[in-house]
Amino acid sequence: MSDVICCNLCSYTSDKIYNVLRHLKGRHKATNDSIEQFKEQVSSSRAMEKYDAGVWKCDRCGRTVPTKHGLETHIATKHKKIVDPAAISLLESPTLVSPPPKVCGRPPLI
Ligand SMILES: [Zn+2]
Ligand SMILES: [Zn+2]
Repeated sequence: MSDVICCNLCSYTSDKIYNVLRHLKGRHKATNDSIEQFKEQVSSSRAMEKYDAGVWKCDRCGRTVPTKHGLETHIATKHKKIVDPAAISLLESPTLVSPPPKVCGRPPLI
């Protein structure tokens, strides 16, 4: 199921957009407008598929990866942030912030 273009009005399919366009005109009396619209839909969906591959570019080393997730993984593994020791100690032994001391009793009424 790759590179098959479907008629959006019936179950006709072809791997050539030309055939589908001819089919649209002949079978469905498609107007030029809808032909153009259909072409755009097909080309944009194909463009999306095409550009989806390798479009995510690492801005640190220029490497391209096929998916956003891949780029995130790449950055996480290849460009690890310099770990701040202070951040580690914070993570390992979270500083307990004690609440401010409660004021017992009420202020004296004058
Ligand atoms: Zn059709
Ligand atoms: Zn990189």
